[in-house]
Amino acid sequence: MAKHIFVTGGVVSSLGKGLTSAAIGMLLEARGLKVSIQKFDPYINVDPGTMNPYQHGEVYVTEDGAETDLDLGHYERFTDAEITRDSNFTTGRIYNSVISKERQGEYLGQTVQVVPHITNEIKAAVQRVVRPGVDVAITEIGGTVGDIEGLPFLEAIRQFGLERGRENVLFIHLTLVPYLRASGEIKTKPTQHSVGTLRQIGIVPDVLICRTERPLEDHVRAKIGLFCNLSADCVIEEKDVDFSIYEVPLVFVQQKMDDLIVRRLGLQGGPRNIERWDRMLDVLRRPKATVDIGICGKYIELNDAYKSIFESLTHGGIAHGVKVNLRKVAADDVTNRGAAEVLKGLHGLLVPGGFGMRGIEGKVEAIRHARTSGLPFFGICLGMQCATIEFARNVLGLKDANSTEFDPNTPYAVIDLMESQSGVKQKGGTMRLGAYECRLSSGSRARNAYGRDAVVERHRHRFEFNNEFRERFAAKGFRCSGLSPDGRLVEIVELDGHPWFVATQFHPEFKSKPTAAHPLFSGFIGAALGQRG
Ligand code: GLN
Repeated sequence: MAKHIFVTGGVVSSLGKGLTSAAIGMLLEARGLKVSIQKFDPYINVDPGTMNPYQHGEVYVTEDGAETDLDLGHYERFTDAEITRDSNFTTGRIYNSVISKERQGEYLGQTVQVVPHITNEIKAAVQRVVRPGVDVAITEIGGTVGDIEGLPFLEAIRQFGLERGRENVLFIHLTLVPYLRASGEIKTKPTQHSVGTLRQIGIVPDVLICRTERPLEDHVRAKIGLFCNLSADCVIEEKDVDFSIYEVPLVFVQQKMDDLIVRRLGLQGGPRNIERWDRMLDVLRRPKATVDIGICGKYIELNDAYKSIFESLTHGGIAHGVKVNLRKVAADDVTNRGAAEVLKGLHGLLVPGGFGMRGIEGKVEAIRHARTSGLPFFGICLGMQCATIEFARNVLGLKDANSTEFDPNTPYAVIDLMESQSGVKQKGGTMRLGAYECRLSSGSRARNAYGRDAVVERHRHRFEFNNEFRERFAAKGFRCSGLSPDGRLVEIVELDGHPWFVATQFHPEFKSKPTAAHPLFSGFIGAALGQRG
C-alpha cells in the first residue's frame, strides 16, 4: 500500500509549498521510489481556468486537458509523476461532485454534510492519484492553516492519518521564520502559533520546514522543536536560494531530509542518485555565455502569469550551456515607444499566449520588427495568431486583417473561431484543451528541432488559423509546418529565409524540464545564440 505525505502551510501564503512539494517528490524519485503528487485548492472555482492572471497567475494545462494550478508545473518539471486532472482538486470541484451525487439520489435520503460527505469526497480524491506501483503519494493543501475555507481539507487529512495509521502518513508543515531587522533576531513565535492551530485541528506535524532568509542556528532549531514537539532533526531549514529554484532539492539533501522521510515512512528506497540534477545545476552555475530574450505580453509585470514560459526559456539555455536573461516587455510599451527602441539589444523575442484585445497591437508591432530585422522569434498560441495577423497586414497587404476575437467585423479574418467552438456558451473547461497530435512537414525547422515526424502537444484555445488563407500565406514563405493528423488544423507556422521564426498554436512550455529542455525552446535559444554571434 502506498504511503502518504501531506504538505500544509502556515503563517503566510506564497511560501513556496508547491516548489517544496515538487522538490520532495524529486528527492524521493532520486531514491528510486515512484511518487504521485497532487494539490488541493480551497477556493470555490471548479478550476482556475476562469480566473484572470492577476488572481491566479498561469493556468497550467495537463496532458488530459485539465486547467489547473501552476504548482502542477513545478511538479512536472521536478518529477516524472503522472500529472492528470486528478492532480488538482478545488473546493468547487469537490462540492460539485457531492451535489451532483445528491441530486442523483446516491446518498439514499441522508442529510448531506461537510463531515462526512465532503471529507469523504476529499479522501477519495487523495486515493485517485495512487495508481498501481506508486510508493508515495504527496498531497499539497493550498492556502494557509487557519483559513476558514481550508478546514474541510485539513479535517479530511486528519481522518486519513487516523485511518491509515501514523506509520503510513507523514504530515509536513511549511512555515515562515522571519528575521526582524530592528531587533536583529529570528522569530519562532509565528511558527509556534501555526503549529498550535494545526494541533487544534488534530494534526501533529512530523516535519517542519522553515522558510527563512537567515540560517537557523542550532539553538533556534532546538527551540522550535521543543515548542512544536519535534526532535531538532525534524526541523528543516529552507533558506532562500541564491540563483535558481532548482537548488531547493539540494537544500534538503544537505539536511538529509530524504533519509528522514524514507525512515519515518519505512520506505524501501535505494541510494540517492541526483547526478543528472547536479549536472544541470552545474550548467546553471557556470554558464558559457548569456543571451537576452524579450517576452512581450499583456500581464508581463506579473511573474506568475508566464511561469512555464520563463522556466522553459531557462531550460533552453541549459541545453546550450548558457544563461537566459529574461527581459519583460510590456506590449503597450511597444506601442508607445516603438519596437526598435524597446527591443534594442535583444537576441530573441517570444510572444506568449493570451486572451482579449489589450496589447494586441503592441505584440503585432514587436513581431513585425522581429520579422523584418531577422531577430529570432518564437510565438506561442496568441503569439502565433499575432504573427499571422502581422504577416497578413504587412506582407499580404490585407488591411485591417485580424482575429475575430478582437474584431468580429474584420474584412480578413485570418484567425477565426474554431468550428467546434461555435455555439459554446459555457466558459469553464470548454476550450480546445490538452494533448493532440501534430504532424510535422519534412525539412521544416520544427521537424528538425524535434527530430521526429509527429509530436503530441498541449492546447488551450478557441481560435485558429483560417484555412482559406493558407495558400496566400505559403506563396510568400509563411508556411504551415505542423498540422493536425486530418490536415485541417494549423498547429505550427514558420517563415522561410529568417534565422528563426516559428510559432505554435499549442503550448510547448508545458512539456519542458530543466533536465530535458523542450526542442523548440532549445532551438529558439540556439538561434538567439547565433544572433548574438
Ligand atoms: N485567445 C486565443 C484563443 O482563444 C489564444 C489563446 C491562448 O493564447 N492560450 O485562441
